[in-house]
Order: sequence, then C-alpha cells, then structure tokens
Amino acid sequence: MAGNARLARLSSHRPCGVCAPVPRRHRCRSTGFCRRVWSGIAMSETLELARALIARRSVTPEDGGCQAILGERLAAAGFTIDHMPRGHVLNLWARHGSAAPLVCFAGHTDVVPPGPLTHWITDPFAPTERDGRLYGRGAADMKTSVAAFTIAAERFVAAHPDHSGSIAILVTSDEEGDAVDGTVRVVETLSGRGEGIDYAIVGEPTCVTRFGDTIKNGRRGSLSGTLHVKGVQGHIAYPHLAKNPIHAAMPALAELGAITWDEGNAHFPPTAWQISNIRAGTGASNVIPGDLTVLFNFRFSTASTEQGLKERVHALLDRHGLDYELKWTLGARPFLTEAGPLLKAALGAVREITGVEPEISTTGGTSDGRFIAVVAKEVIEFGPLNESIHKLNEYVAIEDVEPLTRIYGRILERLLLPR
Ligand SMILES: [Zn+2]
Repeated sequence: MAGNARLARLSSHRPCGVCAPVPRRHRCRSTGFCRRVWSGIAMSETLELARALIARRSVTPEDGGCQAILGERLAAAGFTIDHMPRGHVLNLWARHGSAAPLVCFAGHTDVVPPGPLTHWITDPFAPTERDGRLYGRGAADMKTSVAAFTIAAERFVAAHPDHSGSIAILVTSDEEGDAVDGTVRVVETLSGRGEGIDYAIVGEPTCVTRFGDTIKNGRRGSLSGTLHVKGVQGHIAYPHLAKNPIHAAMPALAELGAITWDEGNAHFPPTAWQISNIRAGTGASNVIPGDLTVLFNFRFSTASTEQGLKERVHALLDRHGLDYELKWTLGARPFLTEAGPLLKAALGAVREITGVEPEISTTGGTSDGRFIAVVAKEVIEFGPLNESIHKLNEYVAIEDVEPLTRIYGRILERLLLPR
C-alpha cells in the first residue's frame, strides 16, 4: 500500500480491541495492520488495566484476582504492600513514602451481580469496546477508576521519586455487599497503628451527564428503624375485644411523614424520612392483626444528629400512646469536606483537564467514604459517569479514561509537589 494511503487509514484507525490491550504483535482485525505498524498511536495504559480487571469475575465479595494484579504493579513501582484479608474479603493497602501529608486513593474491586446474562449484549466479564465505550460489569463502578488511580500513582512516582508526603491506595472487595470486612477493617488497622490519612479521593462514579460535572464532598447519613407496634388480635366484628395496631400506628406514621426534620444547610438537602415497608395482617378479611411492623429510614444531613432524630421519633411514638419496640441501625454518619486543599486541588484538576466547572454535591447513597472519613481529614469522591452503574450493559466512555487518569495525577501534583 502506498505510504499516504496507509497513513490515511492509520490516522482513522481505532484499535480493534485485541491489539489495544495486548502487548504483542498481531494483525489488527479492523485494519489488518500489525500492531507494530501503528504503534505510534497512543494506547491508554489505564484502558488496558481496566480491561484486565473487568475480565476478572469479582461479584461481591469476591476479588477475582484483581488485587493480585494491582499489588504486583504497585510493588514494582516501589509501594509497600499490605494485604489485609478478613474472612472471604480481600483488602489491599499500598503505600509509597512515610511522610505527611498522605494522599490516599480508595476504591473497590468487587462488582454487583450482572443480572440475566441473556440481557447483556456481550459477556459482562469479557471487556468489549463498542461505539466508543468499554462495556463490562464494573466498567463504571469502579474498575476503571481503580485502574486510573493506580496508573496515575505509578506515573507520579516514576516522574517524582523523591516527592514530598506519601501516596496510598486502599482497595477492598467488600463495598457492594455487606461492607463489614472491607474498608472499615482497613481503617481500624490504620487507626490501631496511628496511621492517619490527610486527603482521600474515592473513585466512585460521580459524574451525571458530562464527564467532570460532579465532585462529591460528603454524603448524607443513613439511619434505619424497625418498628414493631403491638396490638391484640381478634375478630373484626368484635373490635372492642381486640386492639388494632394499624389504627393505632397510622396517625403517628402520618405525623412522622409530615415532619420537617431540618432545613438542611449549605451542603446538604433537608433530612428525609421514608417508610420502606409496612407489614400487618393475617391475610384473612375478618381478623384484626396482633401486630404491625414498619421499616423506615432517615437520610440525614449534618444539620441533624443520630441521637436527636432518635429522641424525636421516640417522643412522638410515646405521645401517641403506642405499645411498641423500636430497633435502630446506623448505616452511616454524614460526613462533609469543606473548602480546603483537597477540594481546591480536585476542582483545579477537573477544570484544567476537562474544561468543565464541577458541581460540588453530597447527593446519592452511601459509599466507603463514610468509613474513610473516620481517619481522614478531607474526603472527596470523583470518578466517571454513573448513568450505567449496576445496570445491564454497564460501560465507561473510552474518551474519559485517560482524562480521568490525568485528573488523579494532577491532584497528586497539586498536593505533593512544591508550587
Ligand atoms: Zn462503587
């Protein structure tokens, strides 16, 4: 083929998906060219690593061999590797340097189950590039972020071997499941040995409609209650001989649903109370039930406290004269990182690499940021678009992969290099 014609084909060439991640010569399916011919085209190391991680089947709490890949790479880059397994859960703590400040990237290698395989266009554990996207379970939540911060850390350490401060990478295989033997255990170990984190970046997918549009600087707390209201079972035709717990509870539940718990504040929306389940009744139409069970949940802001909310609920139930038992479960305390070096570094990096002005948000469910906030002075979350997470045919946009890596790298530069 004439030189010019070949160059024209090369410039429009998209790697076929085999030649991009595989570091060996072969004939590319889309062009027929050997990799050697188009080796001038920049390949994303992050994409390559993300593909390797997606190919490891790691449905929570399995790790599928992901952390072995990461540990090996980071050890080769000079990181000290600490595996902290707990039961079936694998955790990895890798650190470079011993000085303060410590910048930590955090994430998880486990993924949610793929759901019915017949509804996936391609195998969820066979990373596939199609239409500018990398498809596979965990592509967005959050193996690409894990790959991106691993590559960013490797590049930073190679370029600045004598950087100030330290870099750590914290990865667990227990984020999507019970979240009891993962990050929370690593944090306990760190606390026990007096190892604090100054700045933590969790790689959860935070962006909503455009890459770069959202950084999270906190999350609401989650407080759940299981309420049992006791009555007396009886024949529906003889209500004076029974005590209907549904009738007793309804006014109290209606009042709980109408309360303004707080007004929120500059960073959080108002605290919300929602019922998720109500159960009562035998199924028969002529029996007054003997009890009623209600499951409810608070998503609460820093304008309220766990204790304050509990006291208000108990006072209300008591005022309604209910005979009840109430069990509480604190899922997460709210946390918030206000303006400081980490948020400034992240905002600057996202603006610089994407040209997008990010919104600072505390929306969404819980993340492992809640555990890290216990030992970290500042915690933020930033990652790719979250529109496909936990869904069928999960994906990440390939064009966002390298910018994500560069953003993590710029955050390190801004925090650990003299300016
Ligand atoms: Zn996640």
